[in-house]
Amino acid sequence: MDFLIATHNMKKRDELSRILKPIGVNVLLAEEAGVDLTDVEETGTTFEENAYLKAQGGCDESGMPCIADDSGLAVDALDGAPGVYSARYSGEHGNDDKNNELLLENLKELPLEKRTARFVSAVCCVFPDGRKITVRGEVEGKIGFELKGCNGFGYDPLFLPDAFPGKTMAELTADEKDSISHRGNALRLLCKKLEEIL
Ligand code: IMP
Repeated sequence: MDFLIATHNMKKRDELSRILKPIGVNVLLAEEAGVDLTDVEETGTTFEENAYLKAQGGCDESGMPCIADDSGLAVDALDGAPGVYSARYSGEHGNDDKNNELLLENLKELPLEKRTARFVSAVCCVFPDGRKITVRGEVEGKIGFELKGCNGFGYDPLFLPDAFPGKTMAELTADEKDSISHRGNALRLLCKKLEEIL
């Protein structure tokens, strides 16, 4: 079954596609579905609200079931920042280099044990008949002191997942990241719920 995904992030598209394909969910970007999608303003204060806004907007505009992820990094020492503002932490939307630089600056001199953080992903799926599914996944880790690895995207080169000691998320293979990631965990829950209704 075809689902529209409300994202322009190709890395997110790949992750969604890898995890959902095995249950028969084929994800299409707006351009692949031939839909002209308006960018939804992420005005929510939670990941769940923003995921819903994007999924509902995509479904309304396309008439297709639509899946959207809203995700980010929550750092304990920064009271949960950058949180829902992860993509625009440094002020410039989607500038990973500047975001990582600012994060390192804001955690300067903090020892490793105080650099605890988690990635969070809320995934929402909205159907044209009004049905809606929302799930959430998280992964715990710490923020390192330097960028390491070149896989993944965003804050991956700084994030040291507890499940793979000594490695950043950007040093994991795609399968390793999917097996522990916030998006992987959220999508596995979504798979279960979709299997019940499809
Ligand atoms: P969104 O596209 O509005 O959900 O913003 C997500 C932002 O959170 C991205 O631009 C990244 O900065 C960060 N982020 C979300 N998921 C990941 C991930 O898997 N790895 C690294 N950074 C992520």
